[in-house]
Parts: sequence; C-alpha cells; structure tokens
Amino acid sequence: MNIVLLGPPGAGKGTQGVVLSKSYNIPHISTGDILREAVKTGTPMGKKAKTFMDKGELVPDEVVVGIVVDRLAQSDTKKGYILDGFPRTLKQAEALDAALEKIESGIDMALYFEIPENIAIERLTGRRVCKSCGANFHIKNIPTKVEGICDKCGAELFQRPDDRLETVKNRLKVYELQTRPLIDYYTKKGILKKVSGALDVKDLFKVLSQIFSDAKLA
Ligand code: AMP
Repeated sequence: MNIVLLGPPGAGKGTQGVVLSKSYNIPHISTGDILREAVKTGTPMGKKAKTFMDKGELVPDEVVVGIVVDRLAQSDTKKGYILDGFPRTLKQAEALDAALEKIESGIDMALYFEIPENIAIERLTGRRVCKSCGANFHIKNIPTKVEGICDKCGAELFQRPDDRLETVKNRLKVYELQTRPLIDYYTKKGILKKVSGALDVKDLFKVLSQIFSDAKLA
C-alpha cells in the first residue's frame, strides 16, 4: 500500500508514520527527517535546506522531489510505503504522480489528519527531541522522568529551531497557503480519507487500521 499522510505540522503524522511502518512492515519516508539528517551531516543540500527550514519555509520543490524519487527507487519500497510530509505543494504532488506513472504505480490513499490549530501549536511548541537518539517527548503530554534528559538514552533534549512559537505560526501559514490545496487534489482523485489528528496515538492507529482493512489495502 502506497500511502500519503497529509495535514498541518503537529497533526501527528510523524508519530503514526512510525507506528504504521512497524505494524505493516513498510518504510516510513519523512522528507522532514531526511532533510534534518542532511542538515546534521552538513551536506551541501543540507546547508541549503537549513536556510528555509529555520524560517518555517518550504525547501524548493526540485530538491525535495529529487530526494523522494531517489528514495522510492530503493527496493524496500516494493511492498509499499508511507510518505510523511510529502507532497506539500501541488507541483510536488504532480511530480510524484508523474514519477509513479512511469513505473505503472500510484498512490492508493491520502490520509488527511485534521486538527484544531491551537492543539497543533501546543504540540509543536512543547515538543522536545533527544540530541542523540532522536526520540520525541513533550513537556506536558510525554514528559521525561528527569526534565530535559532523554528517558531512552540519557542524552540532553533540545527544541527544534522550527518549533519555536513564531516559526510554528509561519509553518501553519505556509501549510494553509501551499499544502491545503492538496486536500482538493486527492479528493478529486477519490482517494482522500479524513481522520482526527486530535485522537491519541492508539485510538488513531485503530481508526487507520480499520480504514486500510475496509479499503482492502492490508
Ligand atoms: P516536517 O518535519 O515535516 O515538519 O518538516 C520540517 C521542515 O522541512 C519543513 O518546515 C520544511 O522546511 C522542510 N520540508 C519537509 N518536507 C518538505 C516538503 N515536502 N517540501 C518542502 N519542504 C519540506
């Protein structure tokens, strides 16, 4: 099953992406994660991407499309994949469809994670990430045993630069302008399913599993 996770930042796409990937044994492909890794290792692409990411702006389409096309060419995607945070513009969606058409493939379903803006803001600004193992926590919803220290590996936690309030507001604005039109794009194709991103992780996973089974995708 080839799945796209759509929705604003903070809607829970990343968390579900990880859970779904483990349960269905297909890769979770997050362009945000791939870009952050490139920033961390300091590749030329990472250096360029950082200037956009720190402001909450989108990295240019051609960079991100290139990343995804390369990733989808890897053999572990044969049984399916979960795209998280891609596509984010109409151009990206069209480029994805064109690339998949060439290999007689396509997206089976786009899951739209709907969430009230205030919850998205609270989730993002409260998120803390481990510097070493990358585990995610939240100052209120998933607190660590010792403040600022990762429960899993004991390393220090930090706040993503783009999770600061001003940048979060910009990311949400960018989402409204550039990504929301994709809801229409996938609705017209007849493959959009709306779910509540406000549900807790287990409940949302149950909803998604039911959707996949009803659609005979899994
Ligand atoms: P995310 O972790 O998905 O919220 O992505 C973090 C940041 O990476 C975004 O704010 C963008 O700057 C960049 N990014 C991730 N995916 C894309 C994409 N599909 N198109 C453009 N920029 C992206």
